[in-house]
Amino acid sequence: METQTRRIVTLAKEVGFCFGVKRAINLTDQALAEHKEVTILGDLVHNRRVTDALEAKGLRKIDEIADQDTGTMVIRAHGLPKLQIAEARDRGLEIIDATCPIVLRAQEAAQTLEGRGCQVVIIGDANHAEIKGVIGSLENPALVIDSLDELRAAKTSHRLRRKVGVIFQTTHALELCREIINELLFMCKEVQIINTICRPVQNRQDDAIDLAARVDLMLVVGSQTSANTVELAALCRCHNTHTLHIQNAEELFIEDFDWAEEIGVASGLSTPEDLVEGVHRKIADYTGPKIAQNKPHASRYVPVGAAH
Ligand code: SF4
Repeated sequence: METQTRRIVTLAKEVGFCFGVKRAINLTDQALAEHKEVTILGDLVHNRRVTDALEAKGLRKIDEIADQDTGTMVIRAHGLPKLQIAEARDRGLEIIDATCPIVLRAQEAAQTLEGRGCQVVIIGDANHAEIKGVIGSLENPALVIDSLDELRAAKTSHRLRRKVGVIFQTTHALELCREIINELLFMCKEVQIINTICRPVQNRQDDAIDLAARVDLMLVVGSQTSANTVELAALCRCHNTHTLHIQNAEELFIEDFDWAEEIGVASGLSTPEDLVEGVHRKIADYTGPKIAQNKPHASRYVPVGAAH
């Protein structure tokens, strides 16, 4: 039944880069303008369009610091372990530190807890660059936990001490960490917590959850390799099973969603604003008929590998 031709599309309050990503891109642009040979270990941020654009301006990605002994090296927004920074300096590289100040604060929080005699527990993804940087800023090994199973395994193997100090990956959702904290309180005699979750991330999560709960279909725009975008999509999916994580407008087949009257759009913190605008435009321009009975089962919209 044809009831409507245009969709209502509501953008989250804030889309596009967060200040930490903007700062890292600006510092890298400045380095490229002022220095001849500029390298980076890994990607500056987890967005292909951004990294391709910087590489086109001359930024060269390296896999090992040992691959480079001249020029300028940019430290990405996620930070680097201090040993690697020292190695780069020893090799004579000039360092431009684009580590986000909020990530630096998370490193300092972990050091504070270590200084108080706590065993540091980081709730986050052990393979994420930010977590490697935090671990690398400490004197003693930290325990990285991202699920209840991992926490129980740490307890069983006696890796969990009686006095622990907890920090969080800056892009994690507190809502998804709550179970781990609750269980830790039962397992340990003393638990000290410093909330290192990034405020801009938290604001976007709260706003996106609110939007997801109100709309028929929720779209989260950003790279599949961006941890904060994957997490944002997972959170929205908890509040609206019709949530789709897409990377750009080309991945949106709007004709498939002719049942949706109101569509919400949010983005990760490393998603360029024009990619979000492209999605917005595609929905706003769509004038296909509204066919309510075409609404499919929600599971069709959970992309493989995106469940958190
Ligand atoms: S998400 Fe937060 S911690 Fe990460 S770069 Fe942006 S402002 Fe910094």
